[in-house]
Amino acid sequence: MSVTDNLKTIRAGVPAEVRLVCVSKFHPAELISEAYEAGERDFGESRAQELMQKVEILPKDIRWHFIGPLQSNKVKYVVPVAYMIQSVENEKLLNEIERIAAKHDKVQKVLLEVHIAQETSKHGFSEEELTQFFAEKMWQNYPHIEVCGLMGIATLTDDPEVTKAEFHTMRTLFDRIKNDYQLNSFTELSIGMSHDYPLAIAEGATIVRVGSAIFGQRIYQ
Ligand SMILES: *Cc1c(COP(=O)(O)O)cnc(C)c1O
Repeated sequence: MSVTDNLKTIRAGVPAEVRLVCVSKFHPAELISEAYEAGERDFGESRAQELMQKVEILPKDIRWHFIGPLQSNKVKYVVPVAYMIQSVENEKLLNEIERIAAKHDKVQKVLLEVHIAQETSKHGFSEEELTQFFAEKMWQNYPHIEVCGLMGIATLTDDPEVTKAEFHTMRTLFDRIKNDYQLNSFTELSIGMSHDYPLAIAEGATIVRVGSAIFGQRIYQ
């Protein structure tokens, strides 16, 4: 199956109001071009260096989503080119994004990553930290950051009940923050990957991040 064929299949199951981010990390620019030709404009990358190389050679109207663990010293490369940074996992990173975005006179869209999975290796704010962040109106400290919503990665499992429960937890948290604080920008819930995006859509995802189901298996060097 080609990228174009895969996209046809996937697009058929993604409602128009849900944003499909094509996760192109570790895949060559040619495959991104193929998806672009098929009409896709949102792409996801997880490494600063790779993102910068791709931005150089690919069309300027692509919206690049940064989705990987981001080190503070890489923020200066990512902010100038990222449409959205989805993987903001702590306040230290927010501080650095604020500093760099201010320099570039940019308001950087971000999602706060929530630690929902059982794996301790996963990153993100805990529910308690997030609750505190909003209760203390911490977003006001960041005039060059727009907090657009939440991102979560579910536990890697074949048990759909576990995945559903985690997505439901995210949805509940998202709704609660949205209702309690009425932030205009707070509209996005980014959950769901290749193996679980239909469940994520059923639980109210507004963004799904799909990689291997579009581009095939990644080859990690
Ligand atoms: C790699 C990655 C994806 C895409 O994973 P697939 O299983 O290939 O769809 C989605 N989200 C994040 C945060 C990722 O790192």
